[in-house]
Amino acid sequence: MTGRVLSVASECVPFVKTGGLADVVGALPGALAGAGWDMRVLIPAYRSLRGLTAGMDEVWFEPGLFGGAGRVFSGRVDGIDLLLLDAPHLFDRDGGLYNGPWGDWWDNPQRFAALSWMAARLAREGVAGWRPDILHAHDWQAGLAPAYLAYHGAEGVRSVLTVHNIAFQGWAPASLLGELRLPAEQYYPGGLEYYGGLSSLKAGLVTADWITTVSPNYAAELMRPEFGMGLQGVIAARAARVSGILNGIDTAIWSPEAEAVPYSAKAMAGKATARAALCTEFDLSVPGPLAIVVSRLTDQKGIDLLPPSIPGFVEAGGGLIVLGSGDPALEGAMRGLAQAHTGRVAVQIGYDEALSHRLFSGADAVLVPSRFEPCGLTQMYGLRYGTLPVVSATGGLIDTVIGATPATLAAGVATGVVFQPTDAMALQQALARLVALYADKKLWARMQKNAMAHPVGWQTSASAYAALYEGLRP
Ligand code: ADP
Repeated sequence: MTGRVLSVASECVPFVKTGGLADVVGALPGALAGAGWDMRVLIPAYRSLRGLTAGMDEVWFEPGLFGGAGRVFSGRVDGIDLLLLDAPHLFDRDGGLYNGPWGDWWDNPQRFAALSWMAARLAREGVAGWRPDILHAHDWQAGLAPAYLAYHGAEGVRSVLTVHNIAFQGWAPASLLGELRLPAEQYYPGGLEYYGGLSSLKAGLVTADWITTVSPNYAAELMRPEFGMGLQGVIAARAARVSGILNGIDTAIWSPEAEAVPYSAKAMAGKATARAALCTEFDLSVPGPLAIVVSRLTDQKGIDLLPPSIPGFVEAGGGLIVLGSGDPALEGAMRGLAQAHTGRVAVQIGYDEALSHRLFSGADAVLVPSRFEPCGLTQMYGLRYGTLPVVSATGGLIDTVIGATPATLAAGVATGVVFQPTDAMALQQALARLVALYADKKLWARMQKNAMAHPVGWQTSASAYAALYEGLRP
């Protein structure tokens, strides 16, 4: 093995997931093993995970962990070298990971300070004979880990903080400074202070040895006020130590060859069969391109741009299936679209992984009109399935999709449609372009081939992380 990394996060597939963060944290150890890095993952033992500790070894006892005792358990579970932080006073409760019936847990600052504190201790002191070279912290929940290393002694361990979504910043009142074991003298605008309070994400951003985010373009965007959400100055000040590394997708799970009706770039017949089955399932008849949306239904995802854009698309022969849930107003708007265009538009409110596979198999295009998108996964599923992505020109979307323009078409490299700005008129025009591209069967087939050949697995990203770790190593 080349080196060792302790990865710390609040979520990890297959154990606990609320978003894309969990996919990345769960995929990295396997991907990095191939590059020679031994990665262990520390996450909290939420109520649903406490049962796992029975098959693991207790490797650490911490008597004073923010209001109670904590224990760390270690073991290989589902192919991952897992470290579970069992601190029942903080994590053993009903409800969500971050919120209960009345909103955010009141003690979120302490809960995730505890996770970060343990990460820093394990990194610094080693655990059961294993000591990492690198501590890799993810998002605000682990943001204090690099800070604890910086302020309480790093002992040669280097830290990396990855920002998966800057919208969540881990705010806490300044009065918690002492309780969170942060040094008072670091409370100033260039240090821990954040708009009169504290932000665990900012603490990580100012103390980590390196900062990454999940696409090169989002790394650049984060230094601008439209995307930095208050932290743009902090990130810009550290620009020389910021980089973007694209997420990958699990190409074993997301593979057209592994679907119910299999197909591949060489043998596309199965895709037509899958499309026909999808139209039957949703009672649709679509002469033009059949598009899908698989997404949280929120403003971030630009879902409000669909009602003004879809009628023209339907008139031109297009169809749409939306799978998602979220903002009740947007759920209602989606239902309204389906009612207004029966036979062409269908909507399923909810989360349904199996259906999402059928959608990517059978559809012609996937729409991702996000206002901001750190990396985005569904456009990559689209590429892999020859389901051409129609994306707004933001974040990771433009790092992964090559938009059809006269130049890219002439060069034979286009893989989708890219539009800007992120508004209804530009989306409408993008959909008109999609209809025209779809009508040219030869061109469409070429674009599908390009898309399906585009690398979307973890290999490239894993090499980039490995190179980063190697460069940071003391
Ligand atoms: P974000 O993490 O911002 O929600 P991403 O595109 O990075 O966006 O990841 C979203 C993931 O969740 C993708 O794997 C997508 O397929 C999946 N997803 C979102 N909504 C649904 C749904 N309603 N049913 C099934 N899968 C969904």
